[in-house]
Amino acid sequence: MSSGAPLVPAVRARPGAGSVPSVRSERVVLPDGIRPATLHIEGGTIARVGRYDEPPSGPLIDVGALTISPGVVDSHVHVNEPGRTEWEGFDTATRAAAAGGVTTIVDMPLNSIPATTTGDALDVKRRAARGRVHVDVGFWGGIVPGNTDQIGPLLTAGVRGFKSFLSPSGVAEFESVSEHELSEALPTLAARGDRTAPLLVHAEDSSLLRTPQGDPRSYRAYAASRPAQAEASAIALLAALSLRYGVAVHVVHVSSADGVEAVARARATGATITAETCPHYLAFEERDVADGATSFKCAPPIRDARHRDALWQGLATGTLQLIASDHSPSPPSMKALDTGSFFAAWGGISSLQLSLAAVWTEARRRGFTEADLARWMSSAPARLSRLAPRKGTLEAGADADFVVWSPDLTFVVRADRLCHRHPWTPYEGRTLAGVVHSTFVRGECVWRDNALVRAGHGILL
Ligand SMILES: [Zn+2]
Repeated sequence: MSSGAPLVPAVRARPGAGSVPSVRSERVVLPDGIRPATLHIEGGTIARVGRYDEPPSGPLIDVGALTISPGVVDSHVHVNEPGRTEWEGFDTATRAAAAGGVTTIVDMPLNSIPATTTGDALDVKRRAARGRVHVDVGFWGGIVPGNTDQIGPLLTAGVRGFKSFLSPSGVAEFESVSEHELSEALPTLAARGDRTAPLLVHAEDSSLLRTPQGDPRSYRAYAASRPAQAEASAIALLAALSLRYGVAVHVVHVSSADGVEAVARARATGATITAETCPHYLAFEERDVADGATSFKCAPPIRDARHRDALWQGLATGTLQLIASDHSPSPPSMKALDTGSFFAAWGGISSLQLSLAAVWTEARRRGFTEADLARWMSSAPARLSRLAPRKGTLEAGADADFVVWSPDLTFVVRADRLCHRHPWTPYEGRTLAGVVHSTFVRGECVWRDNALVRAGHGILL
């Protein structure tokens, strides 16, 4: 925490564990703007949004000037359990989520074993998660070569949509797909998914990726092996497939100006295509990455400031609709710490707990508000995950999922404050704005003042 500053300002009534009938703040981030308001909660949902100064009919938590924002909905998280629980698991991931103001995560189908590519595999994953999650959790299924017959069963079992890779995923159990294979799968998805279940795609054209050359410790050498054109080329293919099959396509982790332009072109042709970027592409630029600093390795790579500016512009114009963490941890032993080799290290950044603050720190510097943040990190990812309007918004009828936080307080990222299984992140040592005071899931306070106060409250969506 910043020196001298209290962890959080004093509040007039302190939220305890358990349900609360109403919560008020001078600064509530509502769908139509930021204003003083009272959230009246009944049975875990928001019964009504009332005036700030109306007399309470029951117990009231008054958080004063602290901001109440909709809880973050992180639609791109790799939990890795079962099978690679030593990388990350449901307990640690959802604890980190609660600490960071994230009230819903949607788990990616890969890095767990089995990968979520069959209805049975989803059952296995649900059994691993049940009773052990501290925030709400949804699941993506996977489309891989040869599992078209599982699209229906996975939808019936409740996946929010599907994920595919156009380039190697990094793990053997989750193979990438070609245009030909997607052409087989997408008619089934269009028919069974009611045209609303999206296909999320890792968009890099593998024919344009190169084997990295030169000094393995050189970040530039690694980044050069995954050029921005590979992203633009893959997005153009996805636009064509979306138009051909009438499927909603979502491009995950857009990293470049070329990618933003490709998404804009695709949307102009009428393709049903949405796109996200990630905190690390918005917070960092290539020159922040020292040689050998493999905690920054991800794919596609962090690029130079021109690309970062284009991503912010894409968010401002709505070409990019949302921000998701792509939290993809691994044990430090897989990050090639001894050699600092970008060529050998696992690609994936841990940031679930920090995404709200990491994005906010840069967003406010660029003149954006908490309302923009709520759009990018709560309502839009809830829509993508087919969880809206139940999740991602503070309005009557929605789940009472919210974060109480101070946008003005800062803290220094220290590993020992992280709840991820491996307290290891490229944000270590950075000063971030945005301190979470408490996190509420369906009307219950699950996190307060740096501690989990209600364990196992999450449900599987
Ligand atoms: Zn990912």
